[in-house]
Amino acid sequence: EKTCVIIGASHAGVNCAFALRKEGWQGAVVLIDSDPELPYHRPPLSKTYLNEPAADLQSLKPLESYHKNNIKLLLDKTVSKIDSLKRQIILYDGTCFEYTKLVLATGAKPIIPPIEGLKQISKVFTLRTAGDITSIKNAFFKSDKKKAAIIGGGYIGLETAASLKKMGAEVTVLERESRILARVTSSYISNFFQELHKRNGVDIQVGKNVFAVENYNDTIRIYCDDATEFDVDILILGVGVKPNCTIASKAELKISDGILVDEYTQTSNEHIYAIGDVSYHYNKNYGYNVRLESVQNAVEQSKIAALNIAGKKIKYDTIPWFWSDQFDIKLQIVGLANGYTDVIVREDDLEKPVISVWYFKDETLLAVDAINNAKAYVFGTKFLKNKIRVDKAKLKDISVPINNSLE
Ligand code: FAD
Repeated sequence: EKTCVIIGASHAGVNCAFALRKEGWQGAVVLIDSDPELPYHRPPLSKTYLNEPAADLQSLKPLESYHKNNIKLLLDKTVSKIDSLKRQIILYDGTCFEYTKLVLATGAKPIIPPIEGLKQISKVFTLRTAGDITSIKNAFFKSDKKKAAIIGGGYIGLETAASLKKMGAEVTVLERESRILARVTSSYISNFFQELHKRNGVDIQVGKNVFAVENYNDTIRIYCDDATEFDVDILILGVGVKPNCTIASKAELKISDGILVDEYTQTSNEHIYAIGDVSYHYNKNYGYNVRLESVQNAVEQSKIAALNIAGKKIKYDTIPWFWSDQFDIKLQIVGLANGYTDVIVREDDLEKPVISVWYFKDETLLAVDAINNAKAYVFGTKFLKNKIRVDKAKLKDISVPINNSLE
């Protein structure tokens, strides 16, 4: 019998397993993950799962669906090795599975910054798994000490800050760059979120490079290289993630910033595919390779991998999108803004607020950041998908509806 083994049972791996069945894959499907939990949605971890004490994990699929679809789900099991010559994978417990096709959906893991003394601190947490967030909840809600510092002002760090604030914590965000979200967005959006957090009582400190931490009486003392110090009860690391490429690289697959795949999600080995946060792939719409950290990419790539494994030749071709919820703000992002030369900000309503930020490379629209603005997100998506030219002067003018701002 043919077998498709999938390593990683999260957004990419689980959706791939079910898509294989939908595409008529007749062989066995084996889905393996180190995480002991029934596979769950990750985005709520820094949002409702953290800020609603009674919230449960949201499963991607109920347990019965795996049985019904004849998907063998192995949890709390870690793959140690791929033997690509014998077409086998080996678990740390010695179990071995042969594969006809192998899918690597191993995702990414938190970067641990090189901070002196980090290993000696007990209340330090990362932000990736249900276990991580449950530990933060436990450290927090079972104690009256509610002073937290988050190192890193990216989307997930900021969502965590907003959630902890909502739960009554005193929160400081320490960001090394001169603005939060510096790596991923324009200064307009950075300033918008900085102000939002300030209004809601989160202390955001930029230009703070943490170089050491130590236990100090009952607290954690944080040292920054501009000689400032902070004392907190818990410390959260939110400085980004790196792709889980170890087993792929030992199997001599081509690796760049992630496992290199072609437009069919196939790696440098024809029997092995890679999808989701771990895949480094070409985006046809933008003309360069990317590694994306989003549910949309994980889900859509999983379907393309399944189609190709089931024997159809289908290329991956999408416009990326992403979202972030902080306090009462919903940010929706469509497209990739890298390399923009021009930004148009459309402030439809500053009070509510309803805003959109449009990124261009010369006359070509690259991406849109929409703040509480589903209309801008929907039209932005349509313009990008259909490569519709937008008249920047009309777009800037809020008396002209967005859909009338075409060239
Ligand atoms: P992952 O979710 O990282 O899953 C990979 C799985 O592989 C893991 O479960 C891991 O245990 C397993 N694994 C790895 N190596 C092995 C091995 N050797 N053996 C067995 N198992 C292994 N995205 C959005 O679009 N919007 C959001 O609002 C958003 N919010 C987020 C909030 C948080 C707190 C986090 C952590 C992420 C958020 N993301 C968000 C990102 C999104 O969750 C990821 O892009 C998505 O989870 C990627 O899915 P994946 O399946 O590729 O990888």
